[in-house]
Amino acid sequence: MATETMNPVGAPTPRNTTLGKVRTHPTQNEGLIFEKSSPGKRAVRLAPLDVPEVDAATLLGDALRVEAAPLPEVSEIEIIRHFTRLSTWNYAIDLGMYPLGSCTMKYNPRVNEFVSRLEGIAEAHPYQPETLAQGSLKVVRELEQCLMEITGMDAITMQPAAGAHGEFTGILLVRAYHESRGNARRKVIVPDSAHGTNPATAAICGYEVQNLKSNALGMVDVAELERIVDEDTAALMLTNPSTIGVFESEIHRIADVLHAKGALLYMDGANMNALVGKARPGDFGVDVMHLNLHKTFSTPHGGGGPGSGPVACKAILEPFLPTPVLARKADGTLGWNYDRPQSVGRVRAYYGNYGMFVRALAYILANGPDGLRQTTEDAVLNANYIRASLEDLYELPYKTASMHEVVFSDRRQATRGVKTGDIAKRIIDYGFHPFTVSFPLIVSGALMIEPTESESKEELDRFIEAMRAIAQEVEETPELVKNAPHSTRVSRLDEATAARKPVLRWRPTTNSGGA
Ligand SMILES: *Cc1c(COP(=O)(O)O)cnc(C)c1O
Repeated sequence: MATETMNPVGAPTPRNTTLGKVRTHPTQNEGLIFEKSSPGKRAVRLAPLDVPEVDAATLLGDALRVEAAPLPEVSEIEIIRHFTRLSTWNYAIDLGMYPLGSCTMKYNPRVNEFVSRLEGIAEAHPYQPETLAQGSLKVVRELEQCLMEITGMDAITMQPAAGAHGEFTGILLVRAYHESRGNARRKVIVPDSAHGTNPATAAICGYEVQNLKSNALGMVDVAELERIVDEDTAALMLTNPSTIGVFESEIHRIADVLHAKGALLYMDGANMNALVGKARPGDFGVDVMHLNLHKTFSTPHGGGGPGSGPVACKAILEPFLPTPVLARKADGTLGWNYDRPQSVGRVRAYYGNYGMFVRALAYILANGPDGLRQTTEDAVLNANYIRASLEDLYELPYKTASMHEVVFSDRRQATRGVKTGDIAKRIIDYGFHPFTVSFPLIVSGALMIEPTESESKEELDRFIEAMRAIAQEVEETPELVKNAPHSTRVSRLDEATAARKPVLRWRPTTNSGGA
């Protein structure tokens, strides 16, 4: 069975900073083949029938299966080892540092998981009558209020299921706002440093995307913005701090330039981990923004799990929020208000990814205002510690002060034929998840490193030591880096074929399992 395409990341490996020397972990042993099935093995034994036997053919007619299903036949210990071993073929934040820039791969505290699994919370049905769901609704309400306080906004929707979905919802609000004023506009401005979802969102909402070039500091060129904003501009979509981890210090002027022409300021809030408890977008001119609960607020992500991308906005956009919105009724109870004539409509079934709300609220309440502020400070401190410790070996294209992440380029290593992707593969041999490569696009050969606040100084030092060792390898034995990783079950994968023809399920081989 072709399992290669199922393991794009590579196995976690023992920490080893000795040049090129790697040890094989038992879970990576090639001898432990994927295929375990052989005829006749069973992990279960059913008790003898204690009810009258019914003739299946009479009961089911044509629907009766005449051949056994081609299922794997394995013993209990084989199936346990199989899934446990598969779980170790993926890297996880629970194994070590995961400095995947822009993704904020912070630790997901276990208290969040504990609370989200409480029976009254986990078993609640989304269509439970409101009178019987007051506790669940209160969780949503409290989280909404915390997020509005953190962002400095007046209203919020919890429906969107991801950051990109939040962007889509936010830009729909912008469109509905302009249309309600009889002033449909055609353009959305997006800086060249933006995450790819920003221009995609603007386009999918029917706007023409206008590109805004960054200045020499990697920031918005306000003079250029002033030149291109006009009465046909619906909004600017801006990430702050930007994707190179730099705070847009002229954000007030940027907002003023837009507002003077009747345009709105959308903030991509994916980088809120650098602002929570320190600065509020609502106070610096932002009209609408999304949050990624699965980044900033410690709900798990990766592996295609559920996300959550609430959209917070100023009062002028409130009438357009997706329906329903949570409201306090005349009798003091909480309930969903569907009477929203100007709403953009629903953007999701039910009310959002509720399990994520519970985790985010647990995280916010466990930290409290001081804890959240400390989190932001530690995230920024960690990124700057890495920056200061690697700046002599890796090119730093933008010298502007870093916030929660730092973006180097592979310029020096590229002279030895080694690219950012090669360095990323090599860091796997040292036991770390790679950083983000080749993004943002304004940095050629970008290495985008975001440690988050979760890492101790000791873990950061191990990462820095590994990155320094790799820089030395690039000078002395570049082939070692260009062919990495060397410690994983499989090395360089055909990523294009893996994406185009993914092998996602087990199929029986001819000589085992099945009928
Ligand atoms: C992660 C991210 C997004 C998209 O968020 P998803 O939840 O992955 O859809 C958008 N913009 C930026 C800057 C991001 O880092």
